[in-house]
Amino acid sequence: MCIFCKIIAGEIPSNKVLENEEFLAFNDINPIAPVHILVIPKIHIKSLNEVDNETIVKITEFIKEVAKKAGIFEDGYRVITNIGENGGQEVPHLHFHILGGTKLAWPKLG
Ligand code: 5GP
Ligand code: ZN
Repeated sequence: MCIFCKIIAGEIPSNKVLENEEFLAFNDINPIAPVHILVIPKIHIKSLNEVDNETIVKITEFIKEVAKKAGIFEDGYRVITNIGENGGQEVPHLHFHILGGTKLAWPKLG
C-alpha cells in the first residue's frame, strides 16, 4: 500500500482539511508556502496520466472548496501536480498541491 493509501486508511496520521466520499485534503508534512495542502483521490490512481475525466471534474470542484475553506480562494493560489520522474513525483498516488497564503514566485525551473 502506498503512503497516501495508508493516510486514507488511517494507518498514518494526517492533518485533515476537508474530505468527502471520494477525496481527502490534508496539510503537507513539509510545507513550502504558508498554505500547502495536498488533495488526493481515495482510490489509488498513480498520476494525472491515469486519471479519468469524471474524476478530474470532481476533484477540481473539491480543490476549489478546499481553497475556500483555507481562506485563499479570493486572493489566489497555485495548483500543481507532478507526474513521473522528470515531473518530480515522489509519491506515486495522484495528488494536487494547493499553495497559497502569500504572493508566490514563478521560479525558472530546470
Ligand atoms: P510530490 O513530490 O510527489 O509531488 O509530493 C509529495 C508531497 O508529499 C511532498 O510535498 C511531501 O512533503 C508530502 N508528503 C510525503 N509524505 C507525507 C506524509 O506522510 N504526510 C504528509 N502530510 N505529507 C507527506
Ligand atoms: Zn495510493
